[in-house]
Amino acid sequence: MGLDEDSLEYHRTDPPGKIEISTTKPTNTQRDLSLAYSPGVAAPCMEIADDETDAYSYTAKGNLVGVVSNGSAVLGLGDIGAQASKPVMEGKGVLFKRFADIDVFDIELDEADPEELITATKMMGPTFGGINLEDIKAPECFTIEERLGEEMDIPVFHDDQHGTAIISGAALVNAADIAGKELEELEVVISGAGASAIASARFYVSLGVRREHITMCDSSGIITEERARAGDVNEYKREFARDLPEGSLADAMEGADVLVGLSAGGIVSQEMVRSMNEDPIIFAMANPDPEIGYEEAKAAREDDVIMATGRSDYPNQVNNVLGFPFIFRGALDVRATEINEEMKVACARALADLAREDVPDAVVKAYGDEPLQYGPEYIIPKPVDPRVLFRVAPAVAEAAMESGAARTEIDLEEYEEQLEA
Ligand code: NAP
Ligand code: MG
Repeated sequence: MGLDEDSLEYHRTDPPGKIEISTTKPTNTQRDLSLAYSPGVAAPCMEIADDETDAYSYTAKGNLVGVVSNGSAVLGLGDIGAQASKPVMEGKGVLFKRFADIDVFDIELDEADPEELITATKMMGPTFGGINLEDIKAPECFTIEERLGEEMDIPVFHDDQHGTAIISGAALVNAADIAGKELEELEVVISGAGASAIASARFYVSLGVRREHITMCDSSGIITEERARAGDVNEYKREFARDLPEGSLADAMEGADVLVGLSAGGIVSQEMVRSMNEDPIIFAMANPDPEIGYEEAKAAREDDVIMATGRSDYPNQVNNVLGFPFIFRGALDVRATEINEEMKVACARALADLAREDVPDAVVKAYGDEPLQYGPEYIIPKPVDPRVLFRVAPAVAEAAMESGAARTEIDLEEYEEQLEA
């Protein structure tokens, strides 16, 4: 059976779907039930009415994330609508649970208008400890997230933007280290100017890449100041408009140190790879087919390419699951009001640092006994590495406390021990 058939079977096996609700308190006796519901439940209600933060102590709010989508940019499938996106959002819930023991309500909203989506999501604030926006198309996704971030008092995180930015950012820190280049010196070309590309470009600047060293290309080529003046690009692309002559991706890549592909499969040739600076870094992350294939890119040069893709069948998979479960874990555990830049940077740095450590045997075994050691073929940790949880969540929690996003202070050493237990 092929993957599609297997997947349909996986999903329809009784009970249909992938998640269910379970209770966490005794429900055996009449007494239990009158505590769980009326009349006993009035007591925690009144506590929370008195002080809303008590919701974190008396309800599941603090471990519950809303995965919110309108189905307008689902995987590589495009605008398939809210209902059809439900398997993806349930799947996101599965990953939250599997990697960080976070519960999820998947919320599919049949709404294309950003204002309505903002209103609906905001109304759900009391339910959740955080909101993961998912598969909402660009450029609306930028405004929606920004507004919700300002107007809600819980973290709002659009994973298609920041997940990609953070994981590829961690990979970039290590790739630059291995190539012996400073982030401030890198000439970075980004192919794509959508949700993930804009967020990644912004994040690389937070990590130390110079904004004026970033050349961004969309489907019409280099985003130039001329195009920006002509009103040919939206305000998010304009942020990265460069004072360069009009040109193609091939022009942009000449002499560049880094190519970040968040655009479309097969658009980069070996010739273009050969035109890059020495020890080039190529993250070809279009899914399912990268801008240029792993083998093709490697074969284009004398063994000096550091290559990552979005695919699990090659080294250096840039996989968002290395980020969102642990970022939310850390954020929820300090009852954070937001996921700010400091917390995102802390996540990227923790991932980059972890990749430099020796890899436990169990992790190596899970990946077919290929040796995993810091170097061109291993620049980011593997998702099944249990240490990712212990390192990233505390790093994020610490950054939240230091940056004023935490509602509660926790002891980080105790926290780490508790996560490892
Ligand atoms: P998006 O918002 O739709 O943006 C796509 C961007 O690619 C647009 O700016 C588009 O240009 C540009 N583009 C399309 N065809 C192009 C071409 N032939 N040459 C140059 N640019 C082209 O999509 P997204 O969510 O950012 O995702 C982009 C790609 O990255 C997808 O393939 C996605 O699967 C992949 N991705 C991978 C990961 C990962 O591996 N972890 C994470 C996120 C995304 P216009 O603006 O001119 O239309
Ligand atoms: Mg997504």
